[in-house]
Amino acid sequence: MKPNYPNRLAFAHLPTPLEKLERLTKHLGGPDIYIKRDDQTGLATGGNKTRKLEFLVADALAHGCDHLITTGAAQSNHCRQTAAAAARYGLGCSLVLRGQPPLHITGNLLLNQLLGAHLYWTGERERNQVVPEVVTEVETMGRKPYVIPLGGSNVLGATGYVLAMAELTGQLAAMGINIDFIVMGSSSGGTQAGLVLGARVYDFHGHILGISIDHPADDLHMQVAALATATATHLGLGTTAVASLVEVNDDYIGGGYAVVGEAEREALRMVAQLEGVLLDPVYTGRAMAGLIDLIRWGAFTRGQSVLFWHTGGAAALPAFADKL
Ligand SMILES: *Cc1c(COP(=O)(O)O)cnc(C)c1O
Repeated sequence: MKPNYPNRLAFAHLPTPLEKLERLTKHLGGPDIYIKRDDQTGLATGGNKTRKLEFLVADALAHGCDHLITTGAAQSNHCRQTAAAAARYGLGCSLVLRGQPPLHITGNLLLNQLLGAHLYWTGERERNQVVPEVVTEVETMGRKPYVIPLGGSNVLGATGYVLAMAELTGQLAAMGINIDFIVMGSSSGGTQAGLVLGARVYDFHGHILGISIDHPADDLHMQVAALATATATHLGLGTTAVASLVEVNDDYIGGGYAVVGEAEREALRMVAQLEGVLLDPVYTGRAMAGLIDLIRWGAFTRGQSVLFWHTGGAAALPAFADKL
């Protein structure tokens, strides 16, 4: 069955490059390592939320909305890409950020302000308590808000990564490459859910391994499987069996979300200094640290190929200077 895709805007720089990491491959002495550069999607420094926002912003416009509201951590890449997409389409943008405003405005927080987003801080409260208040406030100003969930991870957002799998399989065929494992950071699950469903639709037969950033494996597995299943239904694919394709590893959560440890520091430096590629301390540094560790433990054989899906995030680096 063919997916019935909803409307989509086209602002991402696609296809993103697929490259081999020659020097990292040699250094680690394990599988061939490739990288998919979704840090280069073009939306105010890019990242994996851009593909999701092509569908989400299209839906906002279709509903006549003129103001985007979303939520995330202080250094959320999702919030920054949402602010950039809002600016690009002349929409207002309000961001509900977790915790207290920091003394230093840097990284994504600085970019949010330059992009013209309104910032709200949750303090001690839950984000889900604050978002409805911001909705009301925006409505009171006579605007029509559109709420995008955490990480842009609903069926529309995940659809961006179903199509990303179509893009990847096309590139692999053109380049004559076979990939045994895709490895990437997984948190709100939309990226992995889309890729897993895309694998079913576009006949990708490798493993798709999500390195959990902040959730126990069982929770993340359930979240990804549920979202992939719901996305299949939304795209008119009926009940597509996807749960068995969801693979999650939660061995690398360390001190928790955005707590930078030695493993992340090592991975960041290794990839920067061997390849000139910047990772981020929260997501891709952790996911790469997991990949490096798995290679060292012999999880892959020589001759196998692993694709690291770079989901972006380097815009947050300055905010973590003292941790790096
Ligand atoms: C949001 C984000 C992720 C996680 O993607 P999900 O779809 O939320 O699982 C990974 N890497 C970066 C850099 C991100 O900003």
